[in-house]
Amino acid sequence: MNKKSLAIGIDIGGTKIAAGIVSDSGRILSELKEPVVLDQGPKGLIRQLNSIINGLLPLAKSKLCGIGIGSAGPLHAPSGSLLDPTNFGWKAGKVPIVGPLQKNFRAPISFDNDAAAAALAEQWKGGGGDDFIVLTLGTGLGVGVMVEGKTLRGSRGLHPEAGHLLLRPGDTSAPCGCGNLGCAEGLLAGSHFVRRTSQKVGRTLSAPEIVQAAKEGAPWALESFSEYGELLGEYTYNLCMLFYPKQIILAGSFASASSLFIPGAQRKLRSLLKRQNSTLRIMPKLRPSRLANRSGLLGAARLAFLKETYWLQ
Ligand SMILES: [Zn+2]
Repeated sequence: MNKKSLAIGIDIGGTKIAAGIVSDSGRILSELKEPVVLDQGPKGLIRQLNSIINGLLPLAKSKLCGIGIGSAGPLHAPSGSLLDPTNFGWKAGKVPIVGPLQKNFRAPISFDNDAAAAALAEQWKGGGGDDFIVLTLGTGLGVGVMVEGKTLRGSRGLHPEAGHLLLRPGDTSAPCGCGNLGCAEGLLAGSHFVRRTSQKVGRTLSAPEIVQAAKEGAPWALESFSEYGELLGEYTYNLCMLFYPKQIILAGSFASASSLFIPGAQRKLRSLLKRQNSTLRIMPKLRPSRLANRSGLLGAARLAFLKETYWLQ
């Protein structure tokens, strides 16, 4: 009996890589986190991934079912490539990730957008149910949409890049990595919240500093979170009108600050949904993820178990 009950999950973010061995019941047996190597271009990242996988393989041995990789986008899952990964500081173009890796490993590699992976994790172990949206709030803003138990995709195998929906078109205070002004990501990603608050205050701040200041009642910090809550309320209203989620789950590193902005976002969202709620109750539950910022890693492993999004050779 040699049950393939383990997977290697790898979550590639804009600043960190999380990786580990995950069992088919969703237990993380081994876990590591390191800064993502982006300054040596795609080759440096491939080298890093090779070394991470080689380090984890001996722990899984013959029980390995596969390797799942969730990555910050944009990407094209069917061809195992990143597309125009300008958020990584690389020039635009198609960057194969799975092809160069698969040559070195027998275990099949599956690949998808990190927010799609997070959605799989929230459905699997996070109490997400079958109709919800997960927002990954970190360096960027990723959006995973689960409708009637299935991860929603755009056409041609593309993941919906709903972080680039325009919330404040032309807003010069919200430049986005995609080149546009006023994308939801430029306003709601944790990194952009910190950047905009720093600009307003006139000095360089970190997220923990702003959170601490808000907890101590500093008006500038409270104001920043209040604006953030309103923007998140407006943004989630737009998403509600498209997908009618029962829950909106906040994941990613910035979700740890969510007690400071969820009440404001809920108020705004409820006020915008007033009319719709009079005939059909569609106000979703807005809450932080229960997976302690591990949805990316768990979801990447889930990709490997489901064998749904295999790279097509
Ligand atoms: Zn954008």
